[in-house]
Amino acid sequence: MASRKAAAAAQGNGLAAAGRDRAHLELAELGPLLEEKGEQGAAGTASAEDPPCPVAREEEEEVVRVLTLPLQAHHAMEKMEEFVYKVWEGRWRVIPYDVLPDWLKDNDYLLHGHRPPMPSFRACFKSIFRIHTETGNIWTHLLGFVLFLCLGILTMLRPNMYFMAPLQEKVVFGMFFLGAVLCLSFSWLFHTVYCHSEKVSRTFSKLDYSGIALLIMGSFVPWLYYSFYCSPQPRLIYLSIVCVLGISAIIVAQWDRFATPKHRQTRAGVFLGLGLSGVVPTMHFTIAEGFVKATTVGQMGWFFLMAVMYITGAGLYAARIPERFFPGKFDIWFQSHQIFHVLVVAAAFVHFYGVSNLQEFRYGLEGGCTDDSLL
Ligand SMILES: [Zn+2]
Repeated sequence: MASRKAAAAAQGNGLAAAGRDRAHLELAELGPLLEEKGEQGAAGTASAEDPPCPVAREEEEEVVRVLTLPLQAHHAMEKMEEFVYKVWEGRWRVIPYDVLPDWLKDNDYLLHGHRPPMPSFRACFKSIFRIHTETGNIWTHLLGFVLFLCLGILTMLRPNMYFMAPLQEKVVFGMFFLGAVLCLSFSWLFHTVYCHSEKVSRTFSKLDYSGIALLIMGSFVPWLYYSFYCSPQPRLIYLSIVCVLGISAIIVAQWDRFATPKHRQTRAGVFLGLGLSGVVPTMHFTIAEGFVKATTVGQMGWFFLMAVMYITGAGLYAARIPERFFPGKFDIWFQSHQIFHVLVVAAAFVHFYGVSNLQEFRYGLEGGCTDDSLL
């Protein structure tokens, strides 16, 4: 009771000195809050015997509440305004992992260099040019996006004389480039606005994961088109299967918990499984044509390299290597997610090279299907 009065008195003094002494004010505000907590516990244990509090005490409590709440609200508003202004001006500083809100906590091996929550798209986009834990993630896929956009435009603008069935083949290549461009742009956008707010981060993470499924689906299209050029039936079956699997992965990615750190392995598993469904058509091709043809005209060496890159990337991503072994040493550069990003771009490029070779080979054969070999 004595301390309560002291707190109330301190509150009164704090009120009087509000303009001059901010630290004092903060202490005065904290006083009644702490007091209330302690008293609740005491009341809980002794409530059976104790008579109800006298009226005077209730009034006093009321006065303290009336005085502190608006002050606290005002103080909070002031702090918020100051923060929003600083973010708008780009005057924010990176913060350690420990003080991140739960929705921004993803990788506890990255100890420092995180962006604070910044509920402003302008601030998020300006942060592309600042150094923090997401800088590498943003730029690896932003540059990859520019690369594939250019490659896609160049392929679409290639003269029709280089294709046997120009329209069909450009649609097939277009599907691959659409998948790659969407995946890479969703990814760099997600990493840019990840710190905006919980809602924005959740929405963009769903787009990011859907983009990976689109890239894998798009990659299958030209590969199946040229590898099973003369077998329309298996080609259609494999294409349908990868579409169903890809759409299933996109549906799973809409599940709110899919993006949580707990499901890191689930995510790696879903996309690994989608990519590895390519093993079936690969076996089909190799059994039908033999190992030598599969590795030469079938370009299996390149597709194998592509698969190794994707699998390595997914493995590093799931296990969070190398930062797991040296927490705090890869906060800004060379963290698992960046290596995974680089491997995705490199793998997509190797895939493009492989399917371009397949396309050239079919063009060299003048698209003929009379030979019973090469499917
Ligand atoms: Zn990413």
